[in-house]
Amino acid sequence: MKRDVRIAIPEKGQAVIDIITGAGYEAYMVGGCVRDSLLGREPEDWDITTSAKPEEIKALFGRTIDTGLQHGTVTVMMGGEGFEVTTYRIDGEYKDSRHPSEVTFSSELGEDLRRRDLTINAMAYNQEEGLVDKFGGLEDLEAGIIRCVGNPAERFQEDALRILRAVRFAAQLSFTIEERTLEAAGELAHTLSRISAERIQTELVKLMVSRHPEYLRIAYTNGITKVFFPEFDRAMETKQRHIHHCYSVGEHILHSLCHVKEDKVLRLAMLLHDIGKPKVLTVDEEGITHFYNHAAVSAEMAEQILRRLKLDNDTIQKVCKLVLYHDFGSAVEPDMRIMRRALHKIGEDAFPDLFAVKRADILAQSDYQRQEKLERVDRWQQLYEEILEKQQCVSLKTLAVKGSDLIDIGWKPGKKLGEVLQKLLELVLEDPAWNTRARLLEEAGRLLSLER
Ligand code: ATP
Ligand code: MG
Repeated sequence: MKRDVRIAIPEKGQAVIDIITGAGYEAYMVGGCVRDSLLGREPEDWDITTSAKPEEIKALFGRTIDTGLQHGTVTVMMGGEGFEVTTYRIDGEYKDSRHPSEVTFSSELGEDLRRRDLTINAMAYNQEEGLVDKFGGLEDLEAGIIRCVGNPAERFQEDALRILRAVRFAAQLSFTIEERTLEAAGELAHTLSRISAERIQTELVKLMVSRHPEYLRIAYTNGITKVFFPEFDRAMETKQRHIHHCYSVGEHILHSLCHVKEDKVLRLAMLLHDIGKPKVLTVDEEGITHFYNHAAVSAEMAEQILRRLKLDNDTIQKVCKLVLYHDFGSAVEPDMRIMRRALHKIGEDAFPDLFAVKRADILAQSDYQRQEKLERVDRWQQLYEEILEKQQCVSLKTLAVKGSDLIDIGWKPGKKLGEVLQKLLELVLEDPAWNTRARLLEEAGRLLSLER
């Protein structure tokens, strides 16, 4: 079916299509870029599908990169921009829920569209032909429906990752997953265990930074999370009976996700901030639940989970730090000395995010003392800003004396010297007035005389 819709293709992409069609082959924009254009969203990249074989594409363009020749993909460079051009293909039989046993090139656009996962992802477009939409993708886009191309159970059996992709696209677009597609997703959820951690990670992160990270609930309800993230299922099954809470641990997590911006580190931190609670649960005589030490246990589990999902070290380190310290300052009155110590220990960089985490955590709790709790975070943040503004010293980097200064007055290089610097820093953290060369050298001299 062709529908009379217009898509504005960027000039360079159009040039690639023109060159291919000018040589007598077919070429269309396809998949995500067509979907996003129809939604009025800026596509991230423009992928082209063509009847030309990879060798034929390479012969047509001066600069190409062999991106995935075995899958028929060549990247064409056009004015400094890359366009992935992929030959129409039929994926052979899938034997293991993830890899087609063979890929065959085809000369028919329809065959290429049929192998794609969702109707909204299976549309092609070029200026000549307009929209090629054989599976009702436009209708589903307009109705906000996620639906497999063809028989959902078969499509999920071919590649189980599509199960998670369905949830991810629903979350990105605020769409509903069509009944039969959702049912098949649930029935075949267990086959996700055959999918590599890297592919799952990509989809989970996209889901987390989407408009609706809480759609993870759909994955839980349909038995999908338990395959790659069973810790979350335990959280969903752990009730909280406490004046500060109104949700289970899992529901609290889902709500907290919606209170931070669409940022990978922040969303992952919220996802994992209480993940250790089920492990440390105790119930007192009054039936009240407690989760002592849950931040440390959550941070430990967060690291395991993120490693298992093969996230990069930088992300793991940032997320785990936020998880570990998410309760910082919750139960104490804001105080400059405590704030300086925290800056020293946790590091200045973590702080803006840490305040965001704390606010999201509070907003996902019961409304008991909510205003007070939020105001306390505000006051901590004011202290943090005051310390930065006054450029108060919170690390050895800005201490008014260095190791070499201490050596000059008679300290020997070595472990002891490090301890003295640390002692001087302690004084400065306690009272910034200490941070002058004269006072610190005097103190270092006094400590030296005690040594002798
Ligand atoms: P985005 O890049 O915004 O995540 P996208 O739709 O471009 O979305 P990609 O993963 O880049 O998604 O894939 C490009 C196209 O390839 C999809 O639109 C879809 O047609 C097809 N596709 C991708 N992954 C699969 C899959 N696992 N099974 C079937 N078709 C797929
Ligand atoms: Mg894409």
